[in-house]
Amino acid sequence: MFQVNFLEQYCKGCGLCVHFCPKNIIVLAQYTNDQGYNPATINDMTKCTGCALCARMCPHVVIEIVEGGAA
Ligand code: SF4
Ligand code: SF4
Repeated sequence: MFQVNFLEQYCKGCGLCVHFCPKNIIVLAQYTNDQGYNPATINDMTKCTGCALCARMCPHVVIEIVEGGAA
C-alpha cells in the first residue's frame, strides 16, 4: 500500500501527472489552491502501484510517495 502526498499549494495544475499515471487514478480537483490552480489529487489510492512516475514527471516537485500509508 502506498500513500501519494501532494503539496497542493505548489501545484500548477499542469496535468502532467494525470497524463502519465499508468493507473489513471490522478485527477485535478474541482477547487483551486491559493495560486488559483486546480491541484492534482488521487481518486483511488488502493490502485496505486508506487511506480513514482507521477513524482518524476512533476516539474514542481509537488508529489511524494510514501510506502506503507497510514499504519
Ligand atoms: S505512483 Fe504511479 S500508480 Fe501511483 S499515482 Fe503515481 S503514477 Fe500513479
Ligand atoms: S505534475 Fe505536478 S504541478 Fe502538474 S498537476 Fe501534477 S502535481 Fe500539479
